[in-house]
Amino acid sequence: MKYISTRGGIAAISFTEAVMMGLATDGGLLLPRTIPRVDRPTFESWQGLSYQELAFEVMSRFIDDIPTSDLKSLIAASYSSFDHPDVTPLVHLDDLHILELFHGPTFAFKDIALQFLGNLFEYLLSKNDSYLNILGATSGDTGSAAIYGVRGKERIAIFILHPHRRISSVQERQMTTVTDANVFNIAIEGTFDDGQAIVKEMFSDVVFKQAHHLGAINSINWARVLAQVVYYVASCLHIAGHENDRAATFAVPTGNFGDIFAGYIAKKMLPEGCISKLVLATNANDILTRAINNGDYSLGQVVATSSPSMDIQVASNFERYLYYLLDSSPEHVRDAMAHLKETGGLQLDDCLGHMRRDFVAVAVSEDDVRATIADYHERYGYVLDPHTAVGVRAATQHRAKGISTICLATAHPTKFSTVVEEATGRPVDLPPPLAELQDKPTRCEVMPADRAAITAFIEQHAIRR
Ligand SMILES: *Cc1c(COP(=O)(O)O)cnc(C)c1O
Repeated sequence: MKYISTRGGIAAISFTEAVMMGLATDGGLLLPRTIPRVDRPTFESWQGLSYQELAFEVMSRFIDDIPTSDLKSLIAASYSSFDHPDVTPLVHLDDLHILELFHGPTFAFKDIALQFLGNLFEYLLSKNDSYLNILGATSGDTGSAAIYGVRGKERIAIFILHPHRRISSVQERQMTTVTDANVFNIAIEGTFDDGQAIVKEMFSDVVFKQAHHLGAINSINWARVLAQVVYYVASCLHIAGHENDRAATFAVPTGNFGDIFAGYIAKKMLPEGCISKLVLATNANDILTRAINNGDYSLGQVVATSSPSMDIQVASNFERYLYYLLDSSPEHVRDAMAHLKETGGLQLDDCLGHMRRDFVAVAVSEDDVRATIADYHERYGYVLDPHTAVGVRAATQHRAKGISTICLATAHPTKFSTVVEEATGRPVDLPPPLAELQDKPTRCEVMPADRAAITAFIEQHAIRR
């Protein structure tokens, strides 16, 4: 399988080249040249496979430059850190299915992709006898999943900036209790935006970036999308096995469009009728909902909500879908992205029919998030986190007879306990691994929000040859 850029500016490359490239060098995003199709007999033959076996079947259709036994070991290593034998179990609440994606080491769905990506990076770096210094800023959630993805890896160092005392104590401890020698937590005296701005500036310094083999762990890496395709397929198999081959609709709490894009790939890959619709659920940051409902993809201001991992305006993975919307034409994608940059918006009126075949979209208010958490707690004793509640609420508006509804649960409720406790009126129990963090030693560097100081720190601690 070869990979191309949405903007058409690079020669086709292999899977491992695409992983190491991350963002395409022409500014576009990488995509497989074609999406492999799985016929019904093959799909049915996957019934009964373990998550790891299924992951191999799915991923190996997109990867032809890693030997079979190596890919199998990478998958096994990545999902052995999950605390449930099914990796992504389905919980049934009457006729609604909750797909729990938070059984990884940091209790958030990003573990599914980042555990795999961390192992994949290490494998590829050791093949090329190379190394990588990862740099990122976090507002709390993604940082810990990235750190757990690469902790203890020899050829990788990771530097994660977080705003000092402005994240929850669980989030802070999840990061700072990782004391492996290759992990550097930097608490900056400033906001998340300050951290983000410093990281951006450092990446735009091409000399610094190349000298230190600087890399990012963000949601645009194709390997992350690919790892996420697996649980859509696993859920479809589960539904097909238990509910007489019914089609499934997936409700996906969406920020950067990475998770739901994986669903789109699964929909194109699987036999017709396995996936009926993808319900794109947003909070008040509703650019994607506006795009799908009215063709209005115009940037607004970011609003803070109770589902902070979805407080995003520019959904970086949307360009991948745009490529298909615009007839797989790199020229059209280039024009559209230039227009977006210039005017802050895109009109997608001509694509409404196409988008509506794949998606329905709902923006969910803060009141509805709280009401949904309270309602599910009362009716089922099941506690939703606010991101998951956005998806569940959206799904209830789009249920159809004869179609199974699967809601992606993207975080464990303890990660957002304040809102959850307000909604349910009860304290959320910390799972033991999180409770134990209280007593663990921590390591963290508190620094001013100053690029020069942070650059000096990274120069001192980065891996080099
Ligand atoms: C990242 C994240 C999302 C959004 O996923 P995207 O791939 O960015 O759309 C939703 N919920 C949680 C808890 C997340 O961490």
